[in-house]
Amino acid sequence: MEKKGLKVLFLSADTGGGHRASAESLAKQFLKYFPGTDYDLVDVWTPTGVYPYRTLVPSYKHLSAHPRRWKALYYISNTRIYEQMTNIHSTLTCKEKIRKHLESYDPDVVISVHPTMTYLPEKIVRQIGEKRGKKIPFFTVVTDFGSGHCTWFQGMVDRMYVASDRIKTLAKRRGAKLSDDDLVMSGLPIRDEFAIHAKNMNGRTTEHGKNYRRDMKASIGLDPEKKMILLMGGGEGVGSLGEIAENLYYELRRKGVDASICVVCGRNEQLREDIKTKNWDKMYEERKERRSKSGSLKKLKNILKRKSPNMKEISSGTRDGDVTVLGLGFVSNMADFMVAADVLVSKAGPGTIAEAASLGLPVMITSFLPGQEAGNVDIVLDGGFGAFQKNPIKIASILSDWLTNDSLIDEMSKKSEAAGNPNAAADIVKDIGKITLEIMNEKS
Ligand code: UDP
Repeated sequence: MEKKGLKVLFLSADTGGGHRASAESLAKQFLKYFPGTDYDLVDVWTPTGVYPYRTLVPSYKHLSAHPRRWKALYYISNTRIYEQMTNIHSTLTCKEKIRKHLESYDPDVVISVHPTMTYLPEKIVRQIGEKRGKKIPFFTVVTDFGSGHCTWFQGMVDRMYVASDRIKTLAKRRGAKLSDDDLVMSGLPIRDEFAIHAKNMNGRTTEHGKNYRRDMKASIGLDPEKKMILLMGGGEGVGSLGEIAENLYYELRRKGVDASICVVCGRNEQLREDIKTKNWDKMYEERKERRSKSGSLKKLKNILKRKSPNMKEISSGTRDGDVTVLGLGFVSNMADFMVAADVLVSKAGPGTIAEAASLGLPVMITSFLPGQEAGNVDIVLDGGFGAFQKNPIKIASILSDWLTNDSLIDEMSKKSEAAGNPNAAADIVKDIGKITLEIMNEKS
């Protein structure tokens, strides 16, 4: 089969960082496997100017910071009746505007990586193709991991790519009009750097993998002898990151664990500033003093000793751990940080979890968006590569136990690797490219 560049149109919007990241990872693979590929990324709703569709991006930003409101909207909208009403309303108010917009492109293939851009765009693309006397194949790549909104599964798409058996089952239950062959379990497309590191590392728990990770720690300016905890709250740096970092610092230092805590603050400048200016040493001494005065230290030691017999060895250490906390802005080399990390602490973002799993990184989930991200927590728990905990004190206690138990970390790492697919983007692109070229060759 002749390999050549394709004209690819991605449909997506900046609701969170994951959709764009997936589209970009796919685009990169098109350039690799189909050199000369030309691609665009289009948000179909914002340019319509029609309310409420034009507010998709700012509304998401607002709602993701207000989980209760998000939960209400998610559950109301994740129903057949709401889906049908929205389809009718958006067709009446937006169809012509979207058609005109999409007609200015002349794609060989359209790929939706956004749940709101399946039903109407697919219909429009089909009609544009008919008008031009060609078939323009339309694919959906579901960028959710464990749960997905019903709107993902609409439209007469040519093929749909999903990241887990849970989503595959959900797609069928929600009435996706696809044969088993066209509902493909591919994994979630993530950036190429993850695939490159996964290949070079050759397994996180191997001797080579361990050396590879030490070298990575050094190359990003961290002490290779220290454990590294990567703390994330999405692109906006949301969640109790400051509180978690503080408890973690205290607990690791108290238990004699040498560690670097890297806090990804994203666009949360205030948090970064707080981390930079905080007197961590003073906080530690004051807290230690308070605890010993109240006697709670003794009580806690007894409880922890009962729960974890190894604690005696750890807590009776004669020296404090050497712990540093680093506040980072938006990290562009996330794969490097995930290679270097010993554990990831994050909200349940699908992209972030898929990236961690691609590199065999154990995960502590600290929050999730109701509905949309709830299934991602199950992916981690069922896969045995992490835990879910909201309370910053308990998070710190569990993590310090993990980090003083190498065999437990290794076991979770292997399970994490088993849940990830670093090559998902390449697999999806090769498949889409092959089908598209076949359709184009049929025509010529
Ligand atoms: N991310 C990044 N640098 C940062 C923060 C986040 O590259 O400083 C990336 C992260 O690696 C992931 C994406 O942003 O690829 C977040 O996607 P996810 O699906 O986890 O969550 P969303 O933001 O879409 O809710």
